[in-house]
Amino acid sequence: MTTFGLLIDGAETEAADGRRFTSHDPATGAVTGEFARAGAADVNAAVTAAGRAYERTWRHTSATERGRLLQDVARRIQDAAGRLAVEEARDCGKALSQTRYDVGLAARYFEFFGGAAAALHGEQLPLGRDVIDFTVREPHGVCGQINAWNFPLNMAARSLAAALAAGNTAVLKTPELAPYTTALLGRILTDAGVPAGVVNIVHGLGEEAGAALSGHPDVGLLTFTGSVGTGRTVAAAAAATITPCVLELGGKSPTVVFPDADLEEVAGRLARGFVEAAGQSCDLPSLAVVHSDVHEEFVHRLVAHVRKFTVGPGVEDPDLGPLISARQRERVEGHIAGAVREGATVAVGGGRPRDPRLGDGWYVEPTVLTGVTPDMAVATEEIFGPVLSVVPFGTEEEAVAIANGTGYGLAAFVWTRDLGRGIRMTKEILAGQVYVNCFGSGDPVMTPFGGFNKSGYGREKGFEALRTYTRVKNVCISTH
Ligand code: NAD
Repeated sequence: MTTFGLLIDGAETEAADGRRFTSHDPATGAVTGEFARAGAADVNAAVTAAGRAYERTWRHTSATERGRLLQDVARRIQDAAGRLAVEEARDCGKALSQTRYDVGLAARYFEFFGGAAAALHGEQLPLGRDVIDFTVREPHGVCGQINAWNFPLNMAARSLAAALAAGNTAVLKTPELAPYTTALLGRILTDAGVPAGVVNIVHGLGEEAGAALSGHPDVGLLTFTGSVGTGRTVAAAAAATITPCVLELGGKSPTVVFPDADLEEVAGRLARGFVEAAGQSCDLPSLAVVHSDVHEEFVHRLVAHVRKFTVGPGVEDPDLGPLISARQRERVEGHIAGAVREGATVAVGGGRPRDPRLGDGWYVEPTVLTGVTPDMAVATEEIFGPVLSVVPFGTEEEAVAIANGTGYGLAAFVWTRDLGRGIRMTKEILAGQVYVNCFGSGDPVMTPFGGFNKSGYGREKGFEALRTYTRVKNVCISTH
């Protein structure tokens, strides 16, 4: 078993009070790693180190140099990709082909933001001959980053690469349920020569290390990825010190299927989409809003795809692996039982896989619920498990009302061959990402990402993230 310390000021250290915790393989319950457990004193040491590195080193390093270093990190992630993908599959239960893809994206974040670093600049304003006026995009200083467990390495890469490219230093708190690959990333950053204190990685619990980081007065920008409830707590803590916040929260992303869509193609891709990461992904299509003329045929096709899925440990590369924890499985099972009590029907799945080999893992079968009405909890709440709720609709207006009725607003997917209708839907649907006739852009690194409504605010990814990670200073100089 590998043990990890806290990465503070360029060295791995024990927690001040010597405490540790373990992470577990959700496929078997076996321990995957042991981690130093940061408390408030450790978080304070990390923020102090990051502040020092910002003042002494990083803010004076040219954007070109920062970019070069980040691109070297990208190459090193690629070199370590095999190990990272296996450890990620063990630590958070995801299928190996998914974690390979995630690791590739992690490298791409460092590559993209490394390249973009030197392209970030302010503007000159034409105010006449008496002054020269221009804007400067300055870093926030120390970025506090708190992440969820479902895309641990990927999320760490997207936030760290953007923060560093923009000239900030960082203290990142890993998710306690899956800290392994972010800890490995810390070692990669050190080996690449990222100066001591520029990136500090602390492991620990949300109510201890997370709370200490979100309430720390010397953090200049806080980025949080996680649930709505914790997001609220984090934003309240940040408000006390007037620290700006980026909140990447949950979602209940609708897929609207019009009768003219290619039903077989959509059914196949939607089936794959809602079981991605065993349904534990913030923007996956977990709500199908299907025109009543094709509802029956569509469900039939969907179920046929779902029946073929394999379930097993992530390292065996099944279609879906286990949920992250026993508690998460209970939540998902509670949602399914609640929907059935309210009158929904389980079209496929609904229970635990019968394979005795999977008895020690936290599995739930891929599940499709029909007979769901827009007011049911499974149509509006994030389940975070492999469960798809199907709601029929009649008119375009009804489809929009159901899609916007969840209170979330992360992603939405529309399938129709009628381009005018597709465009109308992009205007009416309230979400940070609206896709027409696709489930994703194919390049999640370059496209800005974030939510409307309960799904949060602020943007990660793409060039937009570099705006997030900087603040604008206007400079005006008299020519006299
Ligand atoms: P969570 O809110 O339980 O935890 C997220 C992080 O917050 C963890 O690191 C945790 O330790 C920390 N935390 C917990 N309590 C805290 C506190 N009081 N103060 C500070 N930090 C605290 O979420 P989770 O269960 O890890 O992740 C699942 C959620 O994340 C889902 O809702 C999912 O939709 C969301 N998510 C969103 C995105 C996105 O980009 N929008 C991406 C992935 C996951």
